[in-house]
Amino acid sequence: MNAEVIATFGRHLLLRDAAGETLMARPQGRSHDIVCGDRVRCDRVGSETVVVAVLPRATALRRTSLRARSEPMAANLTQLAIVVAPLPAPDLFVLDRFISAAECAGLAVLIVCNKSELPEHAGLRALLQPYRVLEYALCDISAAQAAADPALLEPLRAALAGHTTVFVGQSGVGKSSLTRLLTDDPAEIAIGALVKDEEGRHTTTASRLYECGAARIIDSPGVRDYAPAIDDLAPSTLGFREVAALAAGCRFLDCRHLQEPHCAVRAAVEQGTMDARRYESYRRLRRLYDRLWERRPAAERAARRR
Ligand code: GDP
Ligand code: ZN
Repeated sequence: MNAEVIATFGRHLLLRDAAGETLMARPQGRSHDIVCGDRVRCDRVGSETVVVAVLPRATALRRTSLRARSEPMAANLTQLAIVVAPLPAPDLFVLDRFISAAECAGLAVLIVCNKSELPEHAGLRALLQPYRVLEYALCDISAAQAAADPALLEPLRAALAGHTTVFVGQSGVGKSSLTRLLTDDPAEIAIGALVKDEEGRHTTTASRLYECGAARIIDSPGVRDYAPAIDDLAPSTLGFREVAALAAGCRFLDCRHLQEPHCAVRAAVEQGTMDARRYESYRRLRRLYDRLWERRPAAERAARRR
């Protein structure tokens, strides 16, 4: 039997089968690498449902774990929505690392600016101007105002329609508030209760997939930091859209855009046509990328790089 993973918590999974029925399951063995959005094959073992295989993923959002391994966060998604707000203050370097991961995974990027009713929203918008220039989609929303006036959700709904979107962002930016507003299907709320009953605590839910009309949303826990999976990053651009556009002008095909002579990327920064803070972000990610590769076994490094 095939099914889709719609919630993960502890060692448990909640699946939805082809008929739309939800059922509890557990992974076979010790695999922790099953995530929301995964399509899986499962068997009945006595009264239990056991996931025996994960079907090949069309896409995945992955991160580097504390042990420097690449691990999935969500699967079979088409869009990454990064939620930011004036408060807590956004970390644009984390934003850039998420954008890099999305670019390299072939996902659409949506920057959701929540709490737009706050006076500090204008400052946040100014800060995000370089992303408009790069033609990333931005959507202003106030979960607080939309709670009273659901019509205010329409631009966000339109940006999510037809996509399976994973919501990421710092804790406190309003991800759960937005997800709650977007999800009005009582069946989804029942799933919340089920997850809560089994584990006793709601906080143990690692991730959830919601059907919201024309959109599918995967909610992930708040993260203060994020490192993309280094296996997924394009080595020459690290997923920086403007670097990709400029790199053809570099003298060296394997230019890393740091100290190399005749680097079109550095030249663009000096001329002010590439945003200097984005370039600083690129340099930081480059250092992180190199450091993380150094922690991999020599054989793996050699296979990847030369
Ligand atoms: P999460 O940690 O990203 O899931 O954030 P929550 O949805 O739990 O929201 C964090 C806090 O921000 C809560 O106190 C919310 O009431 C508040 N919040 C969420 N959306 C808005 C908004 O649009 N405006 C304001 N002022 N506060 C909001
Ligand atoms: Zn270069």
